[in-house]
Amino acid sequence: MLHIGCHLSISKGFLHIGQEAFSIGADTFQFFTRNPQGGKAKDIDAVDAAAYNAFAAQNGFAKIVAHAPYTLNPCSDNPQTREFAEMVFADDLKRMEFVPHNYYNFHPGSHVGQGAQKGIEMIIELLNRILQPQQTTTVLLETMSGKGSEVGRSFEELAAVIAGVKLKEKMGVCLDTCHVFAAGYDIVNNLDGVLTEFDKIIGLERLKAIHLNDSLMPFASNKDRHAKIGEGEIGQAALVRFVCHPSIKNLPIILETPNDLKGYAAEIKMLRTAAKDA
Ligand code: FE
Ligand code: FE
Ligand code: ZN
Repeated sequence: MLHIGCHLSISKGFLHIGQEAFSIGADTFQFFTRNPQGGKAKDIDAVDAAAYNAFAAQNGFAKIVAHAPYTLNPCSDNPQTREFAEMVFADDLKRMEFVPHNYYNFHPGSHVGQGAQKGIEMIIELLNRILQPQQTTTVLLETMSGKGSEVGRSFEELAAVIAGVKLKEKMGVCLDTCHVFAAGYDIVNNLDGVLTEFDKIIGLERLKAIHLNDSLMPFASNKDRHAKIGEGEIGQAALVRFVCHPSIKNLPIILETPNDLKGYAAEIKMLRTAAKDA
């Protein structure tokens, strides 16, 4: 059985979001750790988090994915922005221990003209300062579409970040289908080739989670616009093949498609049915 869910709002707490996910046929989900634009996070309610942990265990939930705010940029040229990134990141990792053994996904950042190499070094520096040997959370680098000066547009850039991190066992990758397609990885016509390349450069054992999105923008456009499954340039057939691939089908799969709850429920149902028939 696939482990599949979608991005949901955690504004009503962990137990509520778990129950909401369950109600639409999901057994995982993603949430923002705080306002996606950054800002102060609400205190975690320890009782609510414990209730979620019990609910998730009872219902066989897979690992869930926390998403860092979009404004978090470890490789900005502005020291204050980098300090803010470090503060938010460290605080989020502390909070994640209320729901232990899950994932924390972040956009590696934008080097804003300093060059990818410099950006990669700054991301490594931040990770080496805040990762803790005792943390149970695995930190995921998201594959990016390569818009602007984004770091993480290639498997090589992500591998270079991981290579510099001391606590490598705390690191993984979240592959976003829209982003890799827009970055020029042909998951439509050459899925095996793309995953073989991922394995060679990063190692498939580092692939921990999937963002499943169709792409409004064409192949290799370096533009990041998510579409509903089957309403973009990747297409439903290719996305079904993707989730059924032996290297993918056991990972938590998160939909970030432009949908309401009903739309998400329908996509989850379609993908579960397709995977059963595959
Ligand atoms: Fe993301
Ligand atoms: Fe994503
Ligand atoms: Zn995106």
